[in-house]
Amino acid sequence: MKDGVDYLDPRVRDALHDATEARDVAYAPYSKFTMGAAVVTDRNAVVRGTIVENVSLGLAMCAERVALFATVANAAGRPEVLALSSRMTGGRLTWPCGACLQVAMELGGPDMVVAVTDGTRVAQNRLSDLAPFLPHK
Ligand SMILES: [Zn+2]
Repeated sequence: MKDGVDYLDPRVRDALHDATEARDVAYAPYSKFTMGAAVVTDRNAVVRGTIVENVSLGLAMCAERVALFATVANAAGRPEVLALSSRMTGGRLTWPCGACLQVAMELGGPDMVVAVTDGTRVAQNRLSDLAPFLPHK
């Protein structure tokens, strides 16, 4: 990442770096849409995820949910930051899909910071700003 990261909280900046490294090991032989994610928890654990596709296309799983589910599997704590690295979609930075936002809401809550990058540009939002009407605890 070259630009636009100076203002970021160090945890968010580091998570974007981890997400970008996770993107490098993405398993996306069908779409070629590589994505990597990293979650930072309230214990400062960093848990990575990457997109995992399958020849049975409906079995693919987004990088963000791989990382979010792994925080539970590893008892890593409550997610506070979700970072995503992928290429742009339609000329805009790619944000998590609705399913991933719902899982993030369940595990992290509305104050979670969601940050995205394409490797150069960066943007971030609170989960509650991205999805203000999702059901949550
Ligand atoms: Zn998703």
